[in-house]
Amino acid sequence: MTTISANLQAVKTRIAAACVASGRKVGEVRLVAVSKTWPADCVESAAAAGQHVFGENFVQEGVAKIAELAALSLEWHFIGPLQSNKTSLVAENFAWVHSLDREKIAQRLSAQRPVDKPPLLVCIQVNISGEQTKAGVTPEAALPLARRIAQLPGLRLRGLMAIPEPSDDVDLVRSRFRRLRALRNELNEFGLALDTLSMGMSHDLEAAIMEGATMVRVGTAIFGERNKDLHQ
Ligand SMILES: *Cc1c(COP(=O)(O)O)cnc(C)c1O
Repeated sequence: MTTISANLQAVKTRIAAACVASGRKVGEVRLVAVSKTWPADCVESAAAAGQHVFGENFVQEGVAKIAELAALSLEWHFIGPLQSNKTSLVAENFAWVHSLDREKIAQRLSAQRPVDKPPLLVCIQVNISGEQTKAGVTPEAALPLARRIAQLPGLRLRGLMAIPEPSDDVDLVRSRFRRLRALRNELNEFGLALDTLSMGMSHDLEAAIMEGATMVRVGTAIFGERNKDLHQ
């Protein structure tokens, strides 16, 4: 077994254990394997081990891998910061965007989504920790943005995404994830139909699953430590 396939198995075991511990069905949580900074052959190894959903943070890097691996028919999620001059590449190449936090970007993605593809599936990124530098809308801004995104024909709003501040305090981390779930429920009370909570990474996926994550985005635990000099 390659390291990647062994790591993947270990992550799936963690996900299953967290589902069991929180009384949830294992199939309720999708794993997005975050392949940013890793070359296409690493994605290929993961695909050979049965993983078909991948996440990328950087537009050009992601698009290059998508082209290189087109024959594998993988499902690609864009999870990083998105500038307006890169929206067409994302609209044309990805199935999902998790990191939507501006109406202007949403409008561009909708207009640029090719008509022969299904609507782009999107999550609004919410800044649940209140950190100054973090991407994402404030919880208060989520409802008005969600209502506008829900009108756009090229997009289908599926849910919310968040990245809490790094912390070893499990109770704190869980309270952040709980906040995101509560916000999703509030939005649904206002008539939206959000079924997705994209939350949880390598170090906190258990906490996220306990609080209702439906998608976890896991990089390091599958592919290894990224080169911090070359990439963020
Ligand atoms: C890099 C990244 C991940 C994966 O993080 P790991 O700690 O490597 O699992 C998940 N989500 C986003 C938005 C990321 O940028």
